[in-house]
Amino acid sequence: MQSEPSPSAIRIIREGQRVELDWADGHQSQFDAVALRWLCPCAYCRGEAGLPGWLDANPSLSEQQTTFTGGELVGSYALCIFWADGHRTGYYTWSLLRTNCACAACISAPHG
Ligand SMILES: [Zn+2]
Ligand SMILES: [Zn+2]
Repeated sequence: MQSEPSPSAIRIIREGQRVELDWADGHQSQFDAVALRWLCPCAYCRGEAGLPGWLDANPSLSEQQTTFTGGELVGSYALCIFWADGHRTGYYTWSLLRTNCACAACISAPHG
């Protein structure tokens, strides 16, 4: 068993503005666009070197900022989401996505 979770299938559903992942261990996760935008892990959104990022200021997000136009794999370790406002610097790693899975089972179980 590898320690890093990895998805066996990823579905980027533009019409429904959600991303679905099937994990190798059989788990399934689903993220809507708004949730994904709030999870953006890039330095601009999250800050770096101890400084707060843009999302830490609790901004009100526009429709463009919470609508994605597509996405692509980054190597074999992450997913990049393309946002309608042009933002595409966030690499959503598998562990980030798995840790933030909001399914009923994960919500009721404490994250590691
Ligand atoms: Zn970002
Ligand atoms: Zn889950």
